[in-house]
Amino acid sequence: MLPRVRYRIYTLSAELMKFYIARKPTFESRSLLLGLASIRFSYQKRTFELPLKEWPILKLHYGQYYWPTVAPKASRYPHLNTDITCDVLVVGGGMGGALTTKLLTNKNIDTVLVERHQVASGSSLANTGLLQFSNDKTLTSLIHTFGEQDAVHFYRLCRDAIQHLLRLSQEFPEEARVIPRGSLYFASTTEDVDMLREEYSTLKRYGFDAAWWNDDQISTHFPFKKPAAIYTKGDAEVNPYAFVHSLVEHSVQQGAKVYEESSISGCEFTHDRVICRCGHSQITAKHVIFTTGYETQQYKREKGAELTSSYVIVTEPLKDFRDWYEQSLIWETARPYYYLRTTQDGRIIAGGLDESLPGGELVEGRYLAKSKQLLDYVHQMFPQTASIQAEYRWVPYSGTHMTDFHILVHILIIRTAIFLKVMGVTVQCAVRSPQR
Ligand SMILES: Cc1cc2nc3c(=O)[nH]c(=O)nc-3n(C[C@H](O)[C@H](O)[C@H](O)COP(=O)(O)OP(=O)(O)OC[C@H]3O[C@@H](n4cnc5c(N)ncnc54)[C@H](O)[C@@H]3O)c2cc1C
Repeated sequence: MLPRVRYRIYTLSAELMKFYIARKPTFESRSLLLGLASIRFSYQKRTFELPLKEWPILKLHYGQYYWPTVAPKASRYPHLNTDITCDVLVVGGGMGGALTTKLLTNKNIDTVLVERHQVASGSSLANTGLLQFSNDKTLTSLIHTFGEQDAVHFYRLCRDAIQHLLRLSQEFPEEARVIPRGSLYFASTTEDVDMLREEYSTLKRYGFDAAWWNDDQISTHFPFKKPAAIYTKGDAEVNPYAFVHSLVEHSVQQGAKVYEESSISGCEFTHDRVICRCGHSQITAKHVIFTTGYETQQYKREKGAELTSSYVIVTEPLKDFRDWYEQSLIWETARPYYYLRTTQDGRIIAGGLDESLPGGELVEGRYLAKSKQLLDYVHQMFPQTASIQAEYRWVPYSGTHMTDFHILVHILIIRTAIFLKVMGVTVQCAVRSPQR
C-alpha cells in the first residue's frame, strides 16, 4: 500500500476552464483559450488524496506538427535544480499555464511556471487554433438546460474573451498574433435547418453578430452547396504554439521564472503554504495552480470524463483563397463534425472525425486512413484544391466526454467564482467548449 498524503489543490486548468458540452450524450470540449485570455479565470478548491508516487506521463499526441515550423524560434528554459520559493506556482506550460502566468505577472505577482517537457509541447501543440464564441452546445440548447441568465452570460464571456486575446497579442510577433475571422456554421443536412434557424434567432435576440444565409448565399460565397448557415463575426484564429511562447517570453520579461524538463510529482499543503516536489528540488509557494490540461485526468479523475482521439491535417500551400469567403472558420451541425480553417502561409487545416480511444490507447493504424478522409473532405468542399496533398498530420487526444450534470457543476462553479478575488486578481470565468 502506497503512503498517501492529503492534498488541497487549487485547480485552474483547461479541464476546469473548459466547458464540456454534450449535444449528443457525449461531449466535446474545446478550450480554455478564451477563458483565460479574457484575464478572468475560474477557480476551484479541492481536497483529495493522491498516492505518493510519481505521476505517470501520458502521451498526448503524435505525428508531424505544423505550428513550430511557422513560429519564431522558441526560447528554452532551464531545468530546476535548486530549492526555490514564490507566491504562485503554475504547473504546466501550455495555453492555460502561459495565460495564467501572464495574468499573474501583469499584476506583479511573484510567479514560477514549471513544465514537465517543453513549453507548448502538450495539447497546445496539437490545438488547431480556432477561437469561436459559439459552442458545440448551441445558445438555444444551453438556455433550455441552464436558463437564460447563465447561458447568455457564458456566451458573452466567450465572445468578450476573443477580444481580450486579440488585444493581448498585439505586442507579439506577427506569427503569434490573433487574427480576427468570421465563422460559417452550416447545416449538414436539411433536417438541421430548423434547429439552425432557431439558433440564429436566439443569437440575434441576445445581440450576437450573426447573419442567416440560405443555400444561394452560401453558393455565392463558397464553392460548395449547403442547405443553410449562420455566419457570425467576432471569432478569430491563432498559431497556438507561437502564441503560448510569446506569452511566456513576455511573462519572463515581466519577472516570471520558467523551468522546463521539470515535473511536479507531488504537493504537500500546510496552513499557509504548499511545498511541491520537482525532481530533487522543491518549490515552496503560497498558492499552486494546476494547468496540466488533459493530463489532469491522470490524477484528478472526473466522473464521466473520457479521452477521445481526433485527427488533423495541414495541406500544402495554395495559390489563393479567392473562393473562400474571408478565409472564415468553417464547421457544421453534424456530430462528430469536420472543421476547416486557413493559415497565414496559405494552407488549409482540416480536423475532426473524433472518436473514443479504443482501450484508451491511440490507434496508430487508423491515422493514415483518417488523414485521407480529411483530405478527401477538403477536396470535396474546395474542388480547386484537388491536386493539393496533406503535408502535416497529427493525432491528438482531443478531450473528454461529459454529461449535462458536469456542465451544471461547472456552471455553479462559474457563478460562485465570479466575484472571488485571489491575490488581488479578479477571478472570473469564461469557458467554451467546441471540441477541436
Ligand atoms: C486536436 C486538438 C485541436 C484543438 N483545437 C482547439 C481550437 O481550435 N481552439 C481551442 O480553443 N482549443 C482547441 N483545443 C483544445 C486545446 O488543446 C486547449 O484549448 C489548450 O491548448 C489546452 O491547453 P492546456 O494548457 O490546458 O493543456 P496543455 O497544452 O496540454 O498543457 C498542459 C501542460 O502541462 C504539463 N504537465 C502535465 N503534468 C505536469 C506536471 N506534473 N509537472 C509539470 N508539467 C506538467 C504538460 O507537459 C503540458 O505541457 C484543441 C485540442 C486538440 C487536441
